[in-house]
Amino acid sequence: MKIRYFDHAATTPVSEVVLKEMLPYFNREYGNASSMYSLGRSAKRALEEARNRVANAIGAKKHEIYFTSCGSESDNLAIKGVAYANREKGNHIITSKIEHPAVLNTCRTLEKQGFEVTYLNVDSNGFVDLEQLVGSIRKSTILITIMFANNEIGTIEPIQKIAEIAHNHHIIFHTDSVQAVGNVKINVEDYHIDLLSMSGHKLYAPKGIGALYVKEGIAFEKIQDGGHQEKDKRAGTENVAEIVGLGKAIEEIYGNYEQYNQHLLNLREQYIQQIEQLIPQAKLNGDRNKRLPGNANFSFPNMNGQELLLKLDEVGICASSGSACSTGSEAPSHVLTAIGLKPELAQGALRITFGKDNTVEDVNYLVNKIVQIIKK
Ligand code: PLP
Repeated sequence: MKIRYFDHAATTPVSEVVLKEMLPYFNREYGNASSMYSLGRSAKRALEEARNRVANAIGAKKHEIYFTSCGSESDNLAIKGVAYANREKGNHIITSKIEHPAVLNTCRTLEKQGFEVTYLNVDSNGFVDLEQLVGSIRKSTILITIMFANNEIGTIEPIQKIAEIAHNHHIIFHTDSVQAVGNVKINVEDYHIDLLSMSGHKLYAPKGIGALYVKEGIAFEKIQDGGHQEKDKRAGTENVAEIVGLGKAIEEIYGNYEQYNQHLLNLREQYIQQIEQLIPQAKLNGDRNKRLPGNANFSFPNMNGQELLLKLDEVGICASSGSACSTGSEAPSHVLTAIGLKPELAQGALRITFGKDNTVEDVNYLVNKIVQIIKK
């Protein structure tokens, strides 16, 4: 049976060009980037070239990019790093209720260490409440961390406005952009972002590689002890092959951005229109327009999302009921709860996230199967 993959927010396959670029660094150019001899120097060159590519893709300077092991680590380093470095100034952090666990659980850990955290509400489309944001700011607020785009419902937050509010109050602004990098054009200067997290496996690079952008001059502390890699901010021998992969992947995706974006938008619109026409009682979660190009999250009343996923799996369809991280948990998604969905609708959610290799034929097959299962 042909497998049709519609879960690109969970992960993406490594693209051929990315794999090809990485391969030499496993067994031919295998030097440690800290070694002085030629093999080491060549690894170091590859590392710096990748750093350049990542920086160029988001309008950053090369020395503002730090490689990590994943998006979760980037979020940890950003939030804990800023919190520890700015402890003298204050102990208050603002985030939202719909963040990924990489942010929410980092904040909860900081609460146990004496920091105070405000978790902002969102409206029914998933937009952060900006009035509450302004009202929550205290003299002791040192960091605002709000995701660029939500991993479940795809809503893109008003990042420029949030950054402006933060900076008007001399507060540092971090954004978890794991779902946005590759899917949205981001320029850290234009958006006034101080720290930005990204992850390779959402943009056709491998799992286990991430990066953190930190604007020059922003104070943050390392959270892992060890060697002096990454300008002493992230200890551990650099994963050269995967770093090369991330650099190539991000260059590829933004090099063909208009085409890629249009392709995802076409698939998403066809899917949404067909579902709305054939299953009128289905409810689209997230904003209709300000959403990630490949994301469509519908709730189907009286349908159990897990059951729907199993039935779709039987016909070769890979999709998600929420985020991959919460699969298996019985509780309704914290994101769907935060946008005010009743449990019966939250439990009937199906997240479809399209990718570069999906086709119109895939969309037709998907819609056909969903309709068949729901009508039954
Ligand atoms: N943040 C968001 C919004 C995500 O969607 C994810 C992964 O799904 C992460 C952080 C964690 O990234 P990683 O899987 O690379 O640790």
